[in-house]
Amino acid sequence: MEILGNIKTYDWGSLGSQSKVAQLALKNDENFAKEFNESTPYAELWMGDHVSGPSLIKATGESISKIIENDNSSIGGTKSLPFLFKVLSITKPLSIQVHPNKEQAERLHASRPDVYKDPNHKPEISIALTDFLALCGFRTPTELYNLLKKYQPLTDLIGGDTIDELQKQPNNESIKMCYTKLMHSPQEEIVKCIAELSSIFKEGKEDATLTKVFDHCNHYFPNDIGVLSIFFLNIVQMKPGQAIFLAANVPHAYLSGDCIECMACSDNVIRAGLTPKFKDVETLLEMLDFTGNTVEEKFFQSIPVGPYSELFKPPVKDFAVIQVKVPNSVQNYCIENRSNGSIIIVLKGNASAAFKGRELFELKEGSIVFVPACIKSVGLTFNHSDQDGFIAYQALYNDF
Ligand SMILES: [Zn+2]
Repeated sequence: MEILGNIKTYDWGSLGSQSKVAQLALKNDENFAKEFNESTPYAELWMGDHVSGPSLIKATGESISKIIENDNSSIGGTKSLPFLFKVLSITKPLSIQVHPNKEQAERLHASRPDVYKDPNHKPEISIALTDFLALCGFRTPTELYNLLKKYQPLTDLIGGDTIDELQKQPNNESIKMCYTKLMHSPQEEIVKCIAELSSIFKEGKEDATLTKVFDHCNHYFPNDIGVLSIFFLNIVQMKPGQAIFLAANVPHAYLSGDCIECMACSDNVIRAGLTPKFKDVETLLEMLDFTGNTVEEKFFQSIPVGPYSELFKPPVKDFAVIQVKVPNSVQNYCIENRSNGSIIIVLKGNASAAFKGRELFELKEGSIVFVPACIKSVGLTFNHSDQDGFIAYQALYNDF
């Protein structure tokens, strides 16, 4: 059945019609079109049954949670969907953050339920829809060593001896020593370091990507410790269709662009910068995964599961995502469903769709479909109108 996403207007979202979230919702949701405003930041489109923003059945306006409550065989008998599926449109950087693993989440929730509101983990996958910038995981010890040595303000802040450890013992421990030094630095030293780096970057002779990310973060979060985190973390530049997986305790931040995101249902976040919100530094340092990787290692590869279907299968049970990309030369295609149901969003193209043995319905850009577990597959007949063909993403339980 067709559903409507729940729209979140967080301040980091892209404004008005520049937002992919708004572009998709304008085509699918009459009520949204009535209240649409060019000066509102449309940040997230939620697809799922999360209590803070369940999707609505398009035909009746009923909450999807009700449908699931009345007949939980539609999602394979579980109480609620194990994942939340989203489209994100980002202009301002989101906070640098990590999410605890399941065991840590249970412990944090038990000891501080005011801050850590649920006992669940929150692995995430993000697939770029446009050029997309993110920070993800620590750089290798060698790369970190070179950057901290190259920029004198950073050498002064972290300390030459501490930095040398990266060369003596190039492992998680030496990365942790340097990052701990950063996170324990007094605010006035952070401000001084950022000011000195600003004058270096203003000369325009530094690496173009590093300069762009430095300016972007410092513009929206001047003097924030997170601005210095860009020297510690990998800067990942994704092209449409490329993905990163954010496992527990891997530090990350989305900086700009549009993406598809799928995650386990949880709100457990520990922040490390680019935020005015509370930073639980000691919990952060204790939990962080300090493994250093190259940027190339951060890209998450998909597996083909059909002629035009690519599966992103993370190492957690909670969710997987399939990208369906059908060229204009193809007339018909079939999207398989799974035993726990799935949610499909159309990004490009038009198709007549049919659940086997049921009536036809039209799918177009912005359409979102909840496919209950009893449906084995969705048959598509294309009415190709977009030069890019038909593009859709499907979120499902990871029982592959
Ligand atoms: Zn996150």
